[in-house]
Amino acid sequence: MSDTETLGVVGGGQLGRMLAEAAAPLGVEVVVLDPTPECPASPVARDQIVGEFDDEEGVRELASRADYLTYEIELADPDLLEAVGWEFDVPVHPDPETLRTIQDKLVQKEALREAGIPVPDFRQVDDREDLEAALDEFGYPVMLKAREGGYDGRGNVPIEDEADVGAALAEIEETTDGEGANAMVEEFVDFEREVSVIGAKGAGETATFPLGENVHREEILRETVVPARTDEAVAERAREVAEDVLDLLSGRGVYGIEMFKAPDGEISVNEIAPRPHNSGHYTIEGALTSQFEQHVRGVTGRPLGATDLRSPIAMANILGDIEERQPADLSGDEEILSHPDASYHWYGKHEVYPLRKMGHLTVIGEAESDTEELLRDARDLRDEVTFE
Ligand code: ADP
Repeated sequence: MSDTETLGVVGGGQLGRMLAEAAAPLGVEVVVLDPTPECPASPVARDQIVGEFDDEEGVRELASRADYLTYEIELADPDLLEAVGWEFDVPVHPDPETLRTIQDKLVQKEALREAGIPVPDFRQVDDREDLEAALDEFGYPVMLKAREGGYDGRGNVPIEDEADVGAALAEIEETTDGEGANAMVEEFVDFEREVSVIGAKGAGETATFPLGENVHREEILRETVVPARTDEAVAERAREVAEDVLDLLSGRGVYGIEMFKAPDGEISVNEIAPRPHNSGHYTIEGALTSQFEQHVRGVTGRPLGATDLRSPIAMANILGDIEERQPADLSGDEEILSHPDASYHWYGKHEVYPLRKMGHLTVIGEAESDTEELLRDARDLRDEVTFE
């Protein structure tokens, strides 16, 4: 066994926290760069550098202390990561080029389509004329998306009919600081379910976790159940699509691949995250290797771990259920702690605001457990906790 290695992570949110927790048993220490003092990762990481994700001094300091660099947030700066990677001779994974492709939803979708990976039909939208031309083709409804900077539903606006067009464009233009639309429009997918595959690339190998099924409300992930409630053929098709996505992208590490399943069983890719993903949190208790350990293994060039499901499992996010930003004072978590099959992950955020991701819980079953029941239990436990 070699000496302890250091993984430098741009971002120290909950993903950075769970990465640091998973890295320690492998003999890997984590240093994070995050602008918020006492960020979620800081109590479990070796150290935190306080600085913006794209702060040159901060990223250079991170590189100078790291054997490998990665990022847990798409706001990382690919040009800067590439430059410091060269300067300090530190490998950066996933490849900054992959981050560049993924950061721009239009470029991402174009790359997927070009590779023959199924995606909803889409058009570039720079102004109202582009949008109206696309509406002539697609009809209503459609989904208008900011190309960059959106997350957890921000930067996505559904357009139901003609009356919505002006307001939707104005909302997207707000996210681009008045620099025109810089958007894309997609046909509205009448999906039956949303599903996702967590995939990983190692040194010359790939691995995929079992298909998860995701429930979103207000475009924010609420729950994941695994295995997804679909037949084997759909799960296999989703795995094939995920493998194609992994082939297309360069750089080691974990990728979250979100997909739609149409009523006829067709799979299309919604979007890709070049990092561990909320829909893969279930792997901590539910799979032989967690997505966080898998990311550390992949980025550092260690062999990938086994991805088999231990048992059916359900995950529920704990979100800010209040109207105003306030100190994070949670009550009701005793129920989670006293449930024999539940696990609790608190992210250590000091402030809560509406719909902020504050923690999650899982409920694990046995080989033949009914996922509906697990989902119900996870929701019940989640509904007991409140910040009010
Ligand atoms: P974000 O980057 O904010 O996660 P996504 O593009 O993944 O945004 O969209 C968030 C959610 O919005 C999806 O999980 C899905 O529920 C819905 N959505 C996105 N694109 C479409 C689409 N083309 N048709 C129908 N629903 C969509």
